[in-house]
This record gives sequence, C-alpha cells and structure tokens, in this order.
Amino acid sequence: MTAGAFVTRFAPSPTGPLHLGHAYSAILAHDMARAAGGHFLLRMEDTDLERCKPVHEAAIADDLTWLGLAWDGPIHHQRPKIPQYNQRLEGLAAKGLLYPCSCTRTDIRAALSAPQEGVAHTVYPGTCRGRTMGSRLPGDALRLDLDAALGQLAPTGLQFTETGPAHAGTHHINPEQAKRLIGDVVLSRKGEDIVAYFLASAFDDADQGITHVIRGDDLFDFTPIQVILQQLFALPTPTYHHHRLIRDDHGKRLAKRDDARALSKYRAEGASPADIRRLVNL
Ligand code: GLU
Repeated sequence: MTAGAFVTRFAPSPTGPLHLGHAYSAILAHDMARAAGGHFLLRMEDTDLERCKPVHEAAIADDLTWLGLAWDGPIHHQRPKIPQYNQRLEGLAAKGLLYPCSCTRTDIRAALSAPQEGVAHTVYPGTCRGRTMGSRLPGDALRLDLDAALGQLAPTGLQFTETGPAHAGTHHINPEQAKRLIGDVVLSRKGEDIVAYFLASAFDDADQGITHVIRGDDLFDFTPIQVILQQLFALPTPTYHHHRLIRDDHGKRLAKRDDARALSKYRAEGASPADIRRLVNL
C-alpha cells in the first residue's frame, strides 16, 4: 500500500436484509474512499454459522450493486479464516491472557453490586478470573484478562484517532479507564469455537490493509477493545470514523429485523438509489 492511501470497508454480517442504516454506512464509506482516490472493500462478517446465510449475502451484494456501490477486489469472507482466528486466540492463551468463563448473564448481573454507569456494555465482574485454560469445559467462553493484557502494553495506555462528528479527536485511554470501561471481554463465544467479532474484525482490518474504519456510532465504545488487540499483536491502528445512526420514527436504532426499513422494500416500491441517498440525508 502506498503512503497516504485510503482503504476502507463495509463489513456487514449476512444475517438478514440491509436496511437504511446499512445503506447510509456503505454509501458514506464508499463515497469517502472514492473522494480520497482510495479503495472501498466489502467484507462479510460471517463467523456465526447459524445466522449467516448465503441468501443474505447474495441479497446484500445485490443491494450494494443496485445502490451503485462497486467494491474493489473480491468479497472478503471470515468463515474460512476461523482456524486462523483460533490460532491467534491460542497465542493469547499461551501468553496467559485468556481464561475460561462459565457465567451466564444472570450470574453476571447477580455478581454486580451496583448498576454500572457510563459504560456501553456490562463490564464483567471477574468471577471466573484466575481459572486456568486447563479447566476449560466444553460450554465455556474465553475472556481476555484485561489487567494481564495491559501489563504487556505500554503504560501510557491506548490511543486512537477519531474523525467522526460526535467524538472527533485523539482519544487516550489510560489503564484505569480501560478497566472501568472495557473489562474482561469475551473473545470466544460460549459453546462454540468461534471468535467474537472484536478479534476477527481487528485482524481483518489489518489483513485487508484498512486505513480508515467507517462504521456506526454504536460501535464507538468497542473501539478500545480492538485497539488493545491491535497492540497485543503489533497490528496497525486505523483511523476511526463513527457516523450518526439512522433511526426509526420513534428514535430507535434500526436493526436487521426491522423489515419495514429493508432496502428491498424500498426497491420493490419503486425507489431509486438517489431516493435512498435523500432518505438518509446524503
Ligand atoms: N459486522 C458489524 C455489523 O454488521 C460491523 C463491524 C464493523 O464495521 O467493524 O454491525
């Protein structure tokens, strides 16, 4: 890649139809790449063997093509890389940075003495911390031992640059803040030998040479988790751009199950790609 290159991606999970929120994200990433003379890549985050379906993937590719968003190169798939992600998990385990966890959501809620404020996800109270990998049972998840991980990183903590409107600037997160905001996140899901999104996505951004991650604001709070993984594996940290979310009439963020906002619905009703751009204010 040449210096100053701009490489971004649209990374949907093919678990359902694209809605207006996805269209906004894909159009924005595409347009920013084209404006910078860079590359726009398409990645299917298809590690969930049950929910990700070829039929959804085909529909996503068809919707993007209809929108006039041509991606560069072949579609990148995560599923064939599952053995590689697991190898990387083993690398973390070998460094003593993972432990098995059998806690259910109810266990976690019960272990928390008070509701947590100002955090995007429940910060794990550490019940299973201290368990060895040798004690892993078939149904266990694997968690990152954040304290041990931070101990292997520079004491200055984490840093990343954000260009999205809501959080523009350079973000510094010191180890204490990381522990309060992130905690011991799950890197391999319970009952499945499948890495969680954080790890697969962090690795693929590096593997695909992504310089700019453009995605919804709902993922902003997870960025430090990916920055930790990048630092642990000496991967580059891209510039992040988290964009506003497209909401329904009640102000709720759109989800894949919101079929009413599916692009296919608008297409069936005769909308044009220009109408979609207008609907999302682009
Ligand atoms: N696959 C994620 C989603 O569909 C997006 C991940 C990302 O852009 O980093 O929400």
